[in-house]
Amino acid sequence: MSGSQHAQVFAPAPERGDAPRNLVGLSRAELAAEIAALGEPAFRAKQLWHWIYARGATDFAAMTSLSKAFRARLAEAYRVARPATALAQDSRDGTRKWLLRLEDGQEVECVHIPEAERGTLCVSSQVGCTLTCRFCHTGTQRLVRNLSAAEILGQVMLARDHFGEWPPFKDAEGPKEDRQLTNIVMMGMGEPLYNYDNIAKALKIVMDHEGLAISKRRITLSTAGVVPMMARCGEELGVNLAVSLHAVTDEIRDRIVPLNRKYPLKELLDACRAYPGVHNARRITFEYVMLKEVNDSPADARGLVRLLKDIPAKVNLIPFNPWPGAPYECSAPETVEAFAQILLEGGLAAPIRRPRGQDIMAACGQLKSASERLKKTEREAASAAS
Ligand code: SAH
Repeated sequence: MSGSQHAQVFAPAPERGDAPRNLVGLSRAELAAEIAALGEPAFRAKQLWHWIYARGATDFAAMTSLSKAFRARLAEAYRVARPATALAQDSRDGTRKWLLRLEDGQEVECVHIPEAERGTLCVSSQVGCTLTCRFCHTGTQRLVRNLSAAEILGQVMLARDHFGEWPPFKDAEGPKEDRQLTNIVMMGMGEPLYNYDNIAKALKIVMDHEGLAISKRRITLSTAGVVPMMARCGEELGVNLAVSLHAVTDEIRDRIVPLNRKYPLKELLDACRAYPGVHNARRITFEYVMLKEVNDSPADARGLVRLLKDIPAKVNLIPFNPWPGAPYECSAPETVEAFAQILLEGGLAAPIRRPRGQDIMAACGQLKSASERLKKTEREAASAAS
């Protein structure tokens, strides 16, 4: 399937016709057009943008710089909504996972990981995933659909609500001690580069200085290697790139990351070399999951050093996180250490990612919601019954 066919087949659910329209997710231009259609002057759209994205207001009545009459008109036709929380779980280590229920009943997960120097929100891009990476729990869940820009952005806004971090915290780059949400990783459920348009729309609002004002330097997008979309992502968004590499030969990678059959290692690494803005200060992160006796030998480590020798890179070693029925085991700690040591000697920074939120199934590769894709006939039966 081509990118545009994919986008069509898995398009986000249309908004319900009977509910007031959600303003979250509209770009600046779309919001301006909406307000112009109401016959209001252009500066009203700017004010409204500020209330929604810089102040986090959800109630028109609280938008006190707008006239009472205008607020009343807005409240009739629109709303400012977040996804609903179906379940929130807190891990022993402080990680928090939200199960979000979307308006069509589908579900996705979103995870907050607190650390000493920063707080990272792991955001989902799709309900389910098409990639079927063999070691990933989400890969066992069929793709249901792409998330809309509103649903992607909604995850970030909901986390800001939760932490109470809308201004007066003015400086989005400010010190960590007063902020829980400093960084964003597009590393939740789904393949972000298969939902590029909605991701781009959402991230532009996240990065907007008059929007959520989170710098592109604090945003990382992780891809399993959708080669044709990588350059565009770098040019238009300029966010940090992480690549789920996981193997150093096409033979092994074909098996564990089936997308490799479409975009093999050479093409993937060429796209990394060409990623806009790549230089030593802004390296690409290569994720490498440690699977016992699959990809964890000293020869694999040496192969990795060779493969990445002319790319500004760092490697994130991820101990495999188990899930029910997974066909792999995690490499032994000493194997992981030895692997990291070879990378270090080869000049590659290779931190070992500490699993976070394992007790609530919130760690890398453990996310899976109950949403399943219904066949068309089942869908029709379900809607006839409701
Ligand atoms: N589809 C994108 C975004 C998902 S990011 C991508 O593939 O990059 C999630 C990261 O966790 C990816 O690097 C993925 O390969 C890794 N991962 C998946 N399952 C895992 C598991 N069981 N243990 C550890 N890491 C896993």
